[in-house]
Amino acid sequence: MSASSVDARRIELHHRAPVVPSPPPRFWLDFVNTDAAAQSPGGDLLRDFEALVSWLEGAEVIDAERAGGIRRRAVLQPAAAAATLVDARRVRAALRVLAERGVSSERVRDDAVVEINRVLGRSAGTRRLELAPEGSWTRTFVPTGDAFAGLMIPIVESAADALVADELSRVRRCADPRCHRVFFDGTKNGLRRWCDMGTCGNRAKAARHRARLQGAR
Ligand SMILES: [Zn+2]
Repeated sequence: MSASSVDARRIELHHRAPVVPSPPPRFWLDFVNTDAAAQSPGGDLLRDFEALVSWLEGAEVIDAERAGGIRRRAVLQPAAAAATLVDARRVRAALRVLAERGVSSERVRDDAVVEINRVLGRSAGTRRLELAPEGSWTRTFVPTGDAFAGLMIPIVESAADALVADELSRVRRCADPRCHRVFFDGTKNGLRRWCDMGTCGNRAKAARHRARLQGAR
């Protein structure tokens, strides 16, 4: 191979999209963490329908264009928007139980599956394959029926994915009893205990340190 063709190959490889697959979004856990228990003392992040739409947009569950359409519809149909918010909170409560106790209780899993299928079964739509700006492929669901009803689909789909991938044993609540955040443990050994090392993990470390100092006295 001549030097120039090696260079050409290098350039070609360089321009290829990164091969590291992005982890599947676990929207459902982030969604659970919007509730009042997880947000304490701030209160429920989903205080009104607009907060729900903003959250879905910020989490990239829906894009700006769709969020705009949803907002315009909410102005025209405030009662439907309010009902959608109530439903979103109901889904969230079911997903919290699944995240906290799904691994240990078959009944909890069964109840969650009923809830997941309730949401999955009520909206018609189109599945699409789309190329994200950074070059990775993503499957999306575009509801064609009731736009409000479809809002929860990506959330419950990510919970369904957790069951399909059999990863509930990696989903748990933070070990800090004051913290109600749930998380996915992606560590190799599966021993992660805190939602975040920077906050709850550090607090636990400091408490252990204080206990040690007192013991040494
Ligand atoms: Zn925590």
